[in-house]
Amino acid sequence: HFLQAWKAAHKFLEFREKQELQKNTVSRKETIELWDSVEAAVKAAKNAFPIWSSKSPLERSQILNKLADLIEHDLEAFAQAESKDQGKTITFARTVDIPRAVYNFRFFASSILHHTAECTEMATMGCVHYTSRAPVGVAGLISPWNLPLYLLTWKIAPAIACGNTVVAKPSEMTSVTAWMMCKLLEKAGVPHGVVNVVFGMGTKAGEALVCHPDVPLISFTGSTLTAQRITEKSAPHCKRLSLELGGKNPAIVFDDADLAQCIPTTLRSSFANQGEICLCTSRIFVQRGIYSEFLKRFVAEAKKWKVGNPSDPTVDVGALISKESYVKKAQAEGARVLCGEGVDSLALPAGNRKGYFMLPTVIAEVKDESCCMQEEIFGPVTCVVAFDTEEEVIERANSVKYGLAATVWSSNVGRVHRVAKRLQSGLVWTNCWLVRDLNLPFGGMKASGVGREGSFVFFNQVSHKLVHIPQKEK
Ligand code: NAD
Repeated sequence: HFLQAWKAAHKFLEFREKQELQKNTVSRKETIELWDSVEAAVKAAKNAFPIWSSKSPLERSQILNKLADLIEHDLEAFAQAESKDQGKTITFARTVDIPRAVYNFRFFASSILHHTAECTEMATMGCVHYTSRAPVGVAGLISPWNLPLYLLTWKIAPAIACGNTVVAKPSEMTSVTAWMMCKLLEKAGVPHGVVNVVFGMGTKAGEALVCHPDVPLISFTGSTLTAQRITEKSAPHCKRLSLELGGKNPAIVFDDADLAQCIPTTLRSSFANQGEICLCTSRIFVQRGIYSEFLKRFVAEAKKWKVGNPSDPTVDVGALISKESYVKKAQAEGARVLCGEGVDSLALPAGNRKGYFMLPTVIAEVKDESCCMQEEIFGPVTCVVAFDTEEEVIERANSVKYGLAATVWSSNVGRVHRVAKRLQSGLVWTNCWLVRDLNLPFGGMKASGVGREGSFVFFNQVSHKLVHIPQKEK
């Protein structure tokens, strides 16, 4: 796996260099070379599957724990690399990305030891039914750039814990920490071929994986558009698909909400990791009675967020992966930008002035049909609008194509349950944000996803066995 990854990484870097030189023209030969590295990785994973899947859960668990220890030992180096590669702040990489990558391996290493099967007994028929789990085979794992190692390991850990072997493709924009992890696999005792990482463009390496007949399972996290293409391309093979996609997540703030708790959390849910988390809030519905007060306090606090060099530990917002253009569109539609882009000036250190930096931006008086209220922005931009009734806000919160995550703020227990039940959202937090329990399945509704990840259900095939027990010996 290590050599495989190394060769593939070098091939890819050469490829990217050539591609730039040739002004993005890809020759047939280069396409074939990338296909070759996916082909070799799938072959290695397929060969490793029989031995890896027959290891005991305890053996696999020990290897996962060792890998977690090794990543944790190098936490600072991983955090530095993640911050430099992605643009996120060093503080976020140190406290969220890399610790979570470590936790992913530890959690699934422990979880695999505590698996139980379901069993029912039909006494009158003399039958016992039970479920049996088996790994699927070679798992194709494709991840995005926003939480590079965090999301990649969230796929690798459960997949290998239950006995699959994997071919993983990190985003071409942020592959460095995946490459660093490859260097630790051997030391952790991961057998050759169990974890293979291919580096390359989505349309080439990613698609080669999606179309490969020996990869029966694809776990994808990324945009809804790419997911549509993956669905089409994998359809002839009837693959098992999990698609974790974009969001346009609402926060609903009722007038009995505890604003002292709600405002700092909603600032975080809007601007953490530069707003580049699929679960970030980008539509804040505030009940009319507290709308002015909320807006005043929210904008005053947003202005305190420091934007600048991602390596500076005092910085809250680092660099964006690409240029953001939604704010101008919102202004053209008549919305009011209360702070941030185009309103306040951003003083950057000399070395960062050519980067994509943006102040946390709050937009108000924006129509529900506006592109800023309908499309995923994936930047530090949030819209704040007023509402009157519970019925109205549920309808407006649901009136987007996405359904990933929502937050509800209220001290009325009955109301939070009522609203949470009716929100078309894979995940609803009440009076908090980003609190996750990895025991529970994760995924979106509508254009935010298909399937559920985060538990062993997706990475195992479950079969039903029935045993008839004769009531007398013949
Ligand atoms: P993207 O769809 O452009 O790319 C994601 C991955 O898919 C990358 O590795 C890319 O190389 C690969 N890819 C691209 N085209 C492909 C193809 N034709 N076949 C196979 N693979 C292909 O997404 P992105 O810009 O990297 O990530 C941002 C998106 O990810 C946002 O929409 C965000 O909401 C979403 N996201 C969702 C979740 C979630 O859990 N729901 C989590 C993080 C990010």
